[in-house]
Amino acid sequence: MSDNVTNVEPTEAQRELLDRHLSLIIEANKISNLTRITGWEQGQLLHVEDSLVGVPEVLDAPEGRYADLGTGGGFPGIPVAIMSGRDTLLVDSVGKKTRALDSVIDELGMSEVIKTYTGRAEDLALELPGEFAVITARALSSLPSLIELGSPLLKRGGRMVCYKARPDDDEVERAVSLEKKLGMSLVSRRDVVLSDEETHRCIFVFEKVKKQKIRLPRRVGMAQRHPLA
Ligand code: SAH
Repeated sequence: MSDNVTNVEPTEAQRELLDRHLSLIIEANKISNLTRITGWEQGQLLHVEDSLVGVPEVLDAPEGRYADLGTGGGFPGIPVAIMSGRDTLLVDSVGKKTRALDSVIDELGMSEVIKTYTGRAEDLALELPGEFAVITARALSSLPSLIELGSPLLKRGGRMVCYKARPDDDEVERAVSLEKKLGMSLVSRRDVVLSDEETHRCIFVFEKVKKQKIRLPRRVGMAQRHPLA
């Protein structure tokens, strides 16, 4: 199944915020390296449009707090916050990135809605276990690692929305093999082609259906360096 456009249309006010975020990131990128995408057109496609692809899945999740893990320049976290209005936490282990985001959020006038957390997802899971109703992650890690990082942060019924380029079947199978251990269950997969008609994206949604069977989070770095499957 393939869809050519996202089925959420930003209002004029949302469009302005989306554009402003991108231009602030392009500016900030000249001083510190936040993303390798530096041009406006490329940024509109691979950052803004791509970030919007997962919005329907986020809107579908139960009410409550939202976290974007490994947010980098705030993608997809800031566009998703703009479109969903959710109470948002942007998580990144690199202080330079979250500091740059703090001033972007301030300039967007969204400091009430969007906060940052400097630290690893594993540390956040120790501080706020079961806190979130929905989590996103793009370009952070493989599916097995992502659902391990997300599981302890999600409340029951909460959703982990994973943005992937075309993953191979093996990656999907490995994630599914961890479902019981992590208390997560694959609920949907949606394949999309962006407006350039060549960039493929795939949105996977896992639901936190029950308590995980192992102690999470494991030691910092384990989920990404030594996945369970
Ligand atoms: N989501 C952004 C950035 C992807 S790069 C985008 O798609 O454009 C991955 C980011 O995740 C980097 O900024 C890195 O600092 C951060 N990161 C990697 N492992 C992390 C972890 N365990 N917890 C929090 N942030 C992490």
